[in-house]
Amino acid sequence: MSVLELQRDVVYGPISFRRLGRSLGINLLPPSRKVCTFDCVYCQYDTAHTVPGPAGQVGFPSVDSVLQKVEEAIRRQPSPPDYLTLSGNGEPTLHPNFPDIVSGMLELQDRMCPQSRLAILSNSSRMHRLEIRETVAQLDDPIMKLDAGDPQTFSRLSRPSSAITLEKILEGLEAMPRLIIQSMIIEGEVQNAEGEAREAWLASVARLSPEMVQIYTAERPVAESGVRQVSRQHLEELASRAQERTGVTVKAY
Ligand code: SF4
Repeated sequence: MSVLELQRDVVYGPISFRRLGRSLGINLLPPSRKVCTFDCVYCQYDTAHTVPGPAGQVGFPSVDSVLQKVEEAIRRQPSPPDYLTLSGNGEPTLHPNFPDIVSGMLELQDRMCPQSRLAILSNSSRMHRLEIRETVAQLDDPIMKLDAGDPQTFSRLSRPSSAITLEKILEGLEAMPRLIIQSMIIEGEVQNAEGEAREAWLASVARLSPEMVQIYTAERPVAESGVRQVSRQHLEELASRAQERTGVTVKAY
């Protein structure tokens, strides 16, 4: 399996994304260590290191250092980025002071680049917590992962930490005032591109009724987990079918 290099600092990029334009990435996780509540079969980072207790909370950047580094990076840009995106080496809401970081980021955005949008790429696993939900709701673009609509596919595809269930995630997402869903569509030993797995995902999208759904596929096959990309045509057909079925705007990237 090819493994991507982890982010070694708080700020990375800017990176040009089809979905997000010119985006300055902000890694709230410890440098060079993946910290996530999932271990998705398609993940390009190494095996997850979850944070079940205080010992796992070591190595996160402080609130002050995050805000200082982001401020310096914005100053260095020739023009404001399209997006400031909370993402990085795992699940950004796991930062122990996540609400304080978001407050500081909103202040920075307001003061330095009000034309930039503030986004998060989250795996949705902590949206059942009111404080996290209310914090994420303050961002311009809450982009939340939903790769499966049935517990079996969820468990095989996302390989979550033991306390996390799909129903808890769906309930958390349902309680969000606004929502953008992102879904990775794959084929292979575990798949969500066809059959019952696809139908269950479509039903969950309809249940959540987000503002928009962004679907995409793996950038490359992940041989060890039997993950295969879906074709461009398949992705576009799925986007049309999902849009028709749910009434939600669905874009293939
Ligand atoms: S949620 Fe993201 S970082 Fe976490 S395992 Fe899945 S792909 Fe990797």
